[in-house]
Amino acid sequence: MAFTRMKNQIVIHGGANSPSTLNPKLREILSQIDPEKDALTMAIKPVVKMEDDPTFNAGTGSVPRIDGTIQMDAAVMSGDGFGSVICIENVKNPVLVARDVREKSPHIILSGDGSVEFARKMGYGYYNPETEKSSNMMKQLKESLKNNTLPEGFRFMIKSSDDTVGAVARINGKFAAAVSTGGSFPMLRGRVGDSPLIGAGIFVGKKGAVVATGIGEEIMKNLLSFRIYESIGTESLSSIVQREVDKFKVSVGIIAISENEYSVYANTDMANAMVEY
Ligand code: ASP
Repeated sequence: MAFTRMKNQIVIHGGANSPSTLNPKLREILSQIDPEKDALTMAIKPVVKMEDDPTFNAGTGSVPRIDGTIQMDAAVMSGDGFGSVICIENVKNPVLVARDVREKSPHIILSGDGSVEFARKMGYGYYNPETEKSSNMMKQLKESLKNNTLPEGFRFMIKSSDDTVGAVARINGKFAAAVSTGGSFPMLRGRVGDSPLIGAGIFVGKKGAVVATGIGEEIMKNLLSFRIYESIGTESLSSIVQREVDKFKVSVGIIAISENEYSVYANTDMANAMVEY
């Protein structure tokens, strides 16, 4: 009997609300990545490149909190482990620190000062991810804030920031995922989105890998990535993803990959690219 091995595939996104005009940039990023055998490495590599590109709201280019600080969330997951950092500050590549949490600490999540301290111990030096774009956002926000208090109706102001990044990979039949974000804007210092939370913004298991983007508060409440993962195998991956995303009234997007399919779907624009080999 003939045996057809599924091709290796990597799918990346540039965030809910990111324009498809960014697709060529994402394809370029994927084309720069040398193939390796490890699925987690292949999910992380494009995310590092997107963190380093100021276009995206992750690493360099992350959006500020309303107090002017920049706190970032990132996570990595493969079939045999998870690691994430929450509200980490002043590091260049949060996704690499998340990988170190997974591989070099006894924990799976580190947050705030503890995540920064851990990053320094792992050799990640001080880095300011601020860009002209993020400082302009801050200036505009400061003007609209009176006496540095919360604006009236703040609770309803969160709208998905563009350009969070994520990747899912299937390499030699193994699955992995990586995500990184500066969060949604505007937000309070200490706010945690879905991206660094297992089952919410990211989930990987034997059946596949799922990454979400969009309004984290709604994604978390629905445990979206795990919900989609759980349904893999019951019908086509695209149908599952579309059905779950269409339930949302706020911006949400998903990239997912299974044994023999991949799916990219959002209820808004979402830049994306896929490579297979
Ligand atoms: N989900 C991210 C968050 O809420 C933002 C995004 O994906 O655009 O932090």
